[in-house]
Amino acid sequence: MDTDILIVGGGFTGAALAAALSDGRRRITVLEARAGKNPRFAGELIHPTGVDVLDRYGLLAPLAATAGTPALGFAVVRSTGAPATLLPYAEIPGGRPEGLAIEHHTMVAKLRQLAAARPGIELRTGIRVADVVRDDARVVGVRTEEGEVFRARLTLTAEGRHSKLRGLLGIVEQAKLLSFTAAVLAEETTLPHPGYGHIFLGAWGPILAYGIGDGQVRMCLDLPAATEGGAKGASAVTERLRIDYAPHVPEPLRSAMLRSLAMRPPEMAANQAIRTKRCVAPGIALVGESGGCSHPLTAAGMTICLTDVQILAEELAPIELAPYAVDAALERYQRRRYRFVRAREVLTDALYEVFRGSEDSTRAIRHGIFRYWDGSQRARASSMALLSGAESGLPQFLSEYVRVVHQSVSGVVRGQVNDPSLRGRVRSLRGISTKALEKLSYVVDGVREGALR
Ligand SMILES: Cc1cc2nc3c(=O)[nH]c(=O)nc-3n(C[C@H](O)[C@H](O)[C@H](O)COP(=O)(O)OP(=O)(O)OC[C@H]3O[C@@H](n4cnc5c(N)ncnc54)[C@H](O)[C@@H]3O)c2cc1C
Repeated sequence: MDTDILIVGGGFTGAALAAALSDGRRRITVLEARAGKNPRFAGELIHPTGVDVLDRYGLLAPLAATAGTPALGFAVVRSTGAPATLLPYAEIPGGRPEGLAIEHHTMVAKLRQLAAARPGIELRTGIRVADVVRDDARVVGVRTEEGEVFRARLTLTAEGRHSKLRGLLGIVEQAKLLSFTAAVLAEETTLPHPGYGHIFLGAWGPILAYGIGDGQVRMCLDLPAATEGGAKGASAVTERLRIDYAPHVPEPLRSAMLRSLAMRPPEMAANQAIRTKRCVAPGIALVGESGGCSHPLTAAGMTICLTDVQILAEELAPIELAPYAVDAALERYQRRRYRFVRAREVLTDALYEVFRGSEDSTRAIRHGIFRYWDGSQRARASSMALLSGAESGLPQFLSEYVRVVHQSVSGVVRGQVNDPSLRGRVRSLRGISTKALEKLSYVVDGVREGALR
């Protein structure tokens, strides 16, 4: 079968991509492995930068009419019972003041329906792609597990983080299991600051909680990577959440969480960091999580997927799908994509480390972050601009990090955090400078990589 653009994977990215590329002229075929819904728990909170993309391609209004609720920003609770620090999107100058929180499977089903209704799009489910088809070194289509061949002028793979084609293309990844998310649906309840995504600190890992509409609050509780799976593991996880995590959650959410745990086990999902340095090859590109992923703490995943979608749509719209023009457009996509993605990856790694770590250095930086945020609206807005993708550069990340380090150092010097003895202060300052140098080296690597592309 021949088509213009073949999209492998009809999940969140694949469905949005098909809709954004549809121009009534090009034939677009989407091949989705699953006939029914994907049982895996996945993202639901989309930053305003991602919502802008949904809006731009006419997907926001029908999605919002189906389900979900506006997301106003983050409320971070630094320790059990402490007041929240509010980080509203509305403080980012010139940005959309609201993101979107929406149940993942409902959202994907709606996106698929919207894509399939656009001219030129054919969405086929229950077809798993097993290999690429090449003409010399160029990818010219795919072969399914049943052996059927689909040929296309351009292939885009949106298979998600466990992309099979990524390996077949020889694209090397760095992958690390960071932790697990236990997802709990708390019903008939509310959050201290309705509309805000809450991050509660104090347990082993951060607890992310956000409303998804109809009095439902989704809780994503971060558990160690060594957590045991299977049926035995599930009851141990429930017990651990009840004993070690619930005390850090305020009422009435805590009771709703415990009711939910008494009725059903949490859904478990692995939190991985997967990095790639290349996402294109002649005739093909990786899109969305096929190109990598980070810990879900900063809820950046789908905003990255949607930014990929927008960049590709912009690069492909003005060209004919001739091989040389396609490959040049894909190179531009690769360059623009990593510029956006690298800052998100470094920020997510840094925040996850600081929100979880128990060493003197991370405690001091955690103290510094809250001092920084409490100090001014400009500080909160700058951090949120980075977090939400409104600001995307590595230099911006670095300048924010330096400001936080400055606050951390002054907290230590004044003896406000950790052991205030001279020896304790020196130990904390050494730890902060080691962390700062580590982040600096990531940023330098990222900037160098961008300059070399
Ligand atoms: C615990 C957790 C919480 C998260 N929370 C957030 C959040 O709050 N906000 C946020 O922005 N992001 C979040 N994310 C990330 C978000 O879920 C992902 O960024 C997003 O789902 C990626 O979409 P995708 O379409 O690229 O991949 P997927 O959602 O994995 O979809 C891939 C699709 O491709 C299909 N497929 C796979 N292989 C093949 C094949 N060989 N042939 C055909 N089809 C195939 C699959 O069936 C699937 O439908 C979270 C992730 C996790 C794990």
